[in-house]
Amino acid sequence: MDYSLLINGTLCQGKGAPLDVLDPANHKVLCTLNEASPEQVEEAVQAADAAFTSWSMMTPAFRATKLLALADWIDAHQEMLARLESDNCGKPYRQALEDEIPGASDVFRFFAGAVRCMSASAAGEYMEGHTSMIRRDPLGVVASIAPWNYPLMMASWKLAPALAAGNTVVLKPSEHTPLTSLALASAMAEIFPPGVVNVVHGRGNTVGGPLTLHPKVRMVSLTGSVGTGSAIVSSTADSVKRMHMELGGKAPVLIFGDADLDAAIEGIRNFAFYNAGQDCTAACRLYVQRNVYDDFVARLKDAVGQIKVGTQDEQEVEMGPLITADHLKRVQGFVERAAAEPHIEVVSGGTALDRPGNFFAPTIIAGARQDDEIVQCEVFGPVVSITPFEEEEQVLAWANDSDYGLASSVWTQDIGRAHRLSSRLQYGCTWVNTHFMLVSEMPHGGQKLSGYGKDMSMYGLEDYTCVRHVMIKH
Ligand code: NAD
Repeated sequence: MDYSLLINGTLCQGKGAPLDVLDPANHKVLCTLNEASPEQVEEAVQAADAAFTSWSMMTPAFRATKLLALADWIDAHQEMLARLESDNCGKPYRQALEDEIPGASDVFRFFAGAVRCMSASAAGEYMEGHTSMIRRDPLGVVASIAPWNYPLMMASWKLAPALAAGNTVVLKPSEHTPLTSLALASAMAEIFPPGVVNVVHGRGNTVGGPLTLHPKVRMVSLTGSVGTGSAIVSSTADSVKRMHMELGGKAPVLIFGDADLDAAIEGIRNFAFYNAGQDCTAACRLYVQRNVYDDFVARLKDAVGQIKVGTQDEQEVEMGPLITADHLKRVQGFVERAAAEPHIEVVSGGTALDRPGNFFAPTIIAGARQDDEIVQCEVFGPVVSITPFEEEEQVLAWANDSDYGLASSVWTQDIGRAHRLSSRLQYGCTWVNTHFMLVSEMPHGGQKLSGYGKDMSMYGLEDYTCVRHVMIKH
């Protein structure tokens, strides 16, 4: 396949430094692509700026047809896209095909409909002799910066609401995982007017930095780490651009003695280790009530021991490698430091696998305490910590004692407790008796260091608009 950047409606090769794109399952070079040069970043922003007036004045119905065409293209090419995503990220092919690609097309369909039915306060005569009305207008050029963990899905979460609302976009996927975004670029070149959507490739410091700093960029939408989020917020502070930040997470999972333990164990097996735990909502920080703690740890060990780790197309593979060798080292470091604590027991896994690629064994760390690094810091790998607790107030305080605020879950059969805790957990989302489930109609986003702004849902669409008041004197 020929991978090209998309700048002003033209597919072109980058003119910057060459970067290898690797398969994390074996470190083979899939292709070498040049990143965008500074001139190409400039060209992309100028093209987006030039396209803004006409795109923003198109009717929502017209813009929706373009989003729907892109959704159809994704569905028609789902096997090709799943293959690219799977090779580039090391993901099991079936998971990419069945979970991620349909999720991407659905989000374009959702926003195609949503933009046709935005709502606001009623127009009216709030001052005698004057009529007031609310508008929700697009902002201008949006710089959208995506991470490597779900490349196409994250690109879709960024592109769909921004374009639906009438903004123009310059998308920069992660330098590690550009392939599906570049494939999407080839389709978008056919579907959208020139300049409405541009895709550039490259690293954060060489391409992301100049893009976010560009004076014609009115909004930066990042999904990435806290460090990157705060670097962008600091470096662009003078220009007071609109920010949309979806950053890290460390989801607490509160498992009470009255919970359906079979469901909880099955849930953790799935929701902690999916995508090798490289998920900002991963069910990674477990608190288990003391009366079921020993039983839970033993049964989770059995369940996690059965996770089939392997390369993309191995039969019944459930978990692939980590994204890079550096990330593997980082995960290993967290586990080694935890294992060195005398009160901690590594019940399962704990090491890299002795095979090519960035494979790390699914790992359970029991006996963790609230202040431990493994409980407080985002590992972003296939690692769960388990901490025993005695009662509700204690576990609620521990769950909220975190710099992060993205996702949480409560496992109990007591509906009153489920409501009580849901109302007091300081997280963008609380699931009850499940975890990790996302739908296009509902918002995803955090608080505290997990950032602000919402992806998906009407709230996501509103984030890409500016609320305006128009007042007419009679
Ligand atoms: P990262 O912060 O390293 O990179 C994210 C993107 O930012 C990449 O495209 C990168 O090139 C770019 N970037 C880096 N420095 C930049 C700079 N100075 N200016 C502009 N762009 C820059 O994150 P990652 O390692 O790709 O992804 C993992 C992180 O993303 C984790 O912390 C995870 O929790 C978070 N994440 C959050 C969500 C969410 O919805 N909240 C979803 C997925 C991932």
